[in-house]
Amino acid sequence: MRVYNFSAGPAVLPEEVLQEAAAEMLDYQGSGMSVMEMSHRSKVYDKIIKEAEADLRELMQIPDNYKVLFLQGGASSQFAMIPMNLMKNKVADYIVTGQWAKKAYQEAAIYGKANKIASSEDKTFSYIPDCSDLPISEDADYVYICENNTIYGTKFKTLPNTKGKTLVADVSSCFLSEPVDVSKYGLIYGGVQKNIGPAGVVIVIIREDLITEDVLAGTPTMFRYKIHADNESLYNTPPAYGIYICGKVFKWLKKQGGLEAMKEYNEKKAKILYDYLDESSLFKGTVRKEDRSLMNVPFVTGSEELDAEFVKEAAAAGLVNLKGHRSVGGMRASIYNAMPIEGVEKLVAFMKEFEQNHTEA
Ligand SMILES: *Cc1c(COP(=O)(O)O)cnc(C)c1O
Repeated sequence: MRVYNFSAGPAVLPEEVLQEAAAEMLDYQGSGMSVMEMSHRSKVYDKIIKEAEADLRELMQIPDNYKVLFLQGGASSQFAMIPMNLMKNKVADYIVTGQWAKKAYQEAAIYGKANKIASSEDKTFSYIPDCSDLPISEDADYVYICENNTIYGTKFKTLPNTKGKTLVADVSSCFLSEPVDVSKYGLIYGGVQKNIGPAGVVIVIIREDLITEDVLAGTPTMFRYKIHADNESLYNTPPAYGIYICGKVFKWLKKQGGLEAMKEYNEKKAKILYDYLDESSLFKGTVRKEDRSLMNVPFVTGSEELDAEFVKEAAAAGLVNLKGHRSVGGMRASIYNAMPIEGVEKLVAFMKEFEQNHTEA
């Protein structure tokens, strides 16, 4: 039996995609083998990776002067790869809105001067700071953000004013959840296990002029964007099966109507949950309203015991992985693209019932 899986990542995937992959497991389209077993240099696989890229380009309307790279090492390896490749002046500005941004900032500090130009740590990262007029460093190579903060449930609704500097964004947990204007960024990247596919793949979308030989001395070959760009993500064996599943999810997204349609659907889903949180006398959202994420929704009862009881009872009812991140406690419902609206409706119905049972009449 399938459950409603509210995990922050690895997370729910479209059932249709899983079924297709299952049907193709032993014999991929007459090749006589699984995608896991085939050469990444074969004709069959070449079609898989090329189509995946073409579909992603179509979905996000990626301009021609951007490269799409399918890499590995997760989002966290990019925390180092970005400064190693982009810090020409050895200076970068970081906006720290959560643990992931903080980790990226700390990693960049190993390779150059990383400036924390804004932070929301003073209020447990429950909001996005005003980024309209930040002290951007004159010689900054880029300005870095984590666009959707998976752990805290905040999202940048407007991009920071970088005063002409290159914007770099970690979009791991909001990848393909709504349309984006790629041309506003120098580099967009994300681990795919939140909203796209299996863990192990990280997708990097990078403007061509940022891909150069001029990288930090000692940068390993595998950590150079140029190597992967020149070899169309096939410098070495890529995470081939993971890319194949990503490709299937891209096709599924196109079938749903693309990113405009996903945005509408995601807004509808999130509204059901946020509307209830706003009227409930037991459950409270933890994020400043205007900064609420469509993807990750943290909430609390105010009592640790009750939180634990809720997580336990919800799991027994087939609503699983609702425990909040260990650094915030409480609950978190991750309602990515592949979470059907019925899942959110069931969750809210269950919360209402729980509220009734746990508040005095
Ligand atoms: C999960 C997550 C990461 C870390 O991803 P890994 O693939 O495990 O390295 C980084 N950034 C964000 C926003 C995330 O949600």
